[in-house]
Amino acid sequence: MKHVGNQIAVYSGSFDPITNGHLDIIERTAKIFGEVHIVILHNPKKTYLFSREEREALISKAVTHLSNVTVSNYDGLVVHAARMKQASVIIRGLRAITDFEYEMQMASANKMLDSEIETFFLMTSNEYSFLSSTVVKEIATFKGDISKIVPKHVKEAVEAKYE
Ligand code: ADP
Repeated sequence: MKHVGNQIAVYSGSFDPITNGHLDIIERTAKIFGEVHIVILHNPKKTYLFSREEREALISKAVTHLSNVTVSNYDGLVVHAARMKQASVIIRGLRAITDFEYEMQMASANKMLDSEIETFFLMTSNEYSFLSSTVVKEIATFKGDISKIVPKHVKEAVEAKYE
């Protein structure tokens, strides 16, 4: 399908690991924007299951079918990553009302930092409204089946971590 705009967007997050919920947002926004740059950001307060290199490799493999999508790591603020990519839009996904307060706070902070960059929210598809990277890890810890919520290569990588 042809995308309708030529705007450049960044989709930021931890992606620890990428889930089908993230992929749904990526596939839908890749149809809307000319370029979508997935940016893996680092929160020094968080501990991650996958290293930044591992997360980048897992995402890259999941988006090979999307020609206008790239993946990279960035150590810093999302507005700076956006400027670096010459993006005018930050994409975020919304699941439930619980996401709303945090996302509104982040969008307002980012607006203060760079008023020329807009945050663009996309509602989750219904089937992924419960899905987060944390849910994936919790199910995998107890050897539950995650094949419906992450791509096959991500399932294998997650299961290898918990072996
Ligand atoms: P962060 O730590 O920045 O929240 P995540 O990797 O958890 O990073 O999520 C990145 C973005 O993807 C966030 O905007 C989040 O709300 C969104 N997201 C995560 N899971 C889903 C899902 N199942 N459906 C829609 N959006 C999602």
